[in-house]
Amino acid sequence: MNATATEHLPVVVVGAGPVGLAAAAHLLDRGLEPLVLETGSAAGAAVREWGHVRLFSPWGEVVDPAAEKLLAPTGWVRPDAASYPTGRDWAEHYLQPLADALGEHVRYGATVTGVARAGRDRVLDAERETQPFVVHVDHADGRQERLYARAVVDASGTWRTPSPAGADGLPALGEHTAADHVTYRVPDFDDPAVRARHAGRRTAVLGSGASAFTALASLADLARTGEGTDTKTVWVLRRGISANTFGGGEADQLPARGALGLAAKAAVEAGHAEAVTGFRTTEITRTADGRPVLVGEDGRQLDPVDEVVVLTGLRPDLSFLSELRLALDERLQAPVALAPLIDPNQHSCGTVYPHGHRELSHPEQGVYLVGMKSYGRAPTFLALTGYEQVRSVAAALAGDLASADNVELTLPETGVCGGAGLPLTSVATSGNAEPVTAGQGGGCCGS
Ligand SMILES: Cc1cc2nc3c(=O)[nH]c(=O)nc-3n(C[C@H](O)[C@H](O)[C@H](O)COP(=O)(O)OP(=O)(O)OC[C@H]3O[C@@H](n4cnc5c(N)ncnc54)[C@H](O)[C@@H]3O)c2cc1C
Repeated sequence: MNATATEHLPVVVVGAGPVGLAAAAHLLDRGLEPLVLETGSAAGAAVREWGHVRLFSPWGEVVDPAAEKLLAPTGWVRPDAASYPTGRDWAEHYLQPLADALGEHVRYGATVTGVARAGRDRVLDAERETQPFVVHVDHADGRQERLYARAVVDASGTWRTPSPAGADGLPALGEHTAADHVTYRVPDFDDPAVRARHAGRRTAVLGSGASAFTALASLADLARTGEGTDTKTVWVLRRGISANTFGGGEADQLPARGALGLAAKAAVEAGHAEAVTGFRTTEITRTADGRPVLVGEDGRQLDPVDEVVVLTGLRPDLSFLSELRLALDERLQAPVALAPLIDPNQHSCGTVYPHGHRELSHPEQGVYLVGMKSYGRAPTFLALTGYEQVRSVAAALAGDLASADNVELTLPETGVCGGAGLPLTSVATSGNAEPVTAGQGGGCCGS
């Protein structure tokens, strides 16, 4: 099949999350035909799974311009730009109306299980670039389908592949058998059943990002309610606690994100959470009555807990892209040109240089990983970044390189860059963590 023959084919977008739907709006705006394939039964299926969590970005920063243009004729009114939606608000008041406005361009219950060049595995060169892509789809009704596409925009996120409790990056021994007491999501305390699992009981929280802060703050709130007299949290950290650990606080240009770190710090200072530092989980054993016990690489065993909340990060599912020639960074599994800009070993300021189709390109022309997935295992992705990515990618696919290259992006800084981070007053810790110097991983991006 020659190149011109593929031009009538759709651009397949994997995932009807915020960035996938924005991609579809930009593609339509460019006169291209998007086909969004979503494994879930509704728009924002992943976002709905953390629907109880309030975003730290206001509405004004989580609505895509092309999406808003598409929604305008439907009478959609953007909520107050300065107010903060929950994940559920985002899904119900923006993502679903957007998907509805995209109409037959969105298919639900459609799980992408493979993407390749038609008739060619990743080895074969012959006429590769002129072949369309094929996308293998499992439908919720059991049907399987093989679709042709002129290009593929993978916006399938990282929500469905959380990192494990094991400090090696592998599941800890016994982690799977303890699954009845292990969750990889911020607990939803609006749900009485979830509340009962934590109220008056002992919970271990693993991780040190925004989600872990949210869990620590919510558990402290639960403890303050006095529901179940002795709600206790043990906060398990691989490293020590430094000025950067709790984020930028008031220096964070996203106040709600800064407030998360402050709330977590207050939870530790108030004794609602005991921080255990330098603890690298290698095993989860069980007591005779089934309570999980975390075992560290140094042989330490923590006191038994009732629940383990693992919020150690998310990672991309690359399994269905195995037949494509991708250039991904060995650390982050993000596109090689983007990775150095977002590497948490180097950067914690949250800003990232404007980037678009070029940084997101691969040896396999015509395939782009965008949105949360483009950041691989890096933790600082913001929707604003994804919206600019897909604006640039859609322009490139429409052949408008001038616009595609004209990338603009200004992101709110975390305040952990130039700022000294948060002064450590009386953060109680136990453990033998190696000291962490302020600013470790705090390289300045801006300057
Ligand atoms: C708790 C939490 C709070 C956050 N708060 C903010 C915030 O305040 N501000 C901000 O800017 N960002 C925030 N983010 C980061 C980010 O903006 C969101 O994760 C956003 O949802 C990412 O959008 P996405 O479209 O890239 O991925 P997702 O929202 O994860 O969407 C991917 C979609 O792809 C679907 N999918 C996955 N695999 C397949 C497959 N094989 N086939 C078909 N469909 C598939 C999923 O069901 C999902 O609907 C937050 C993230 C989390 C987890």
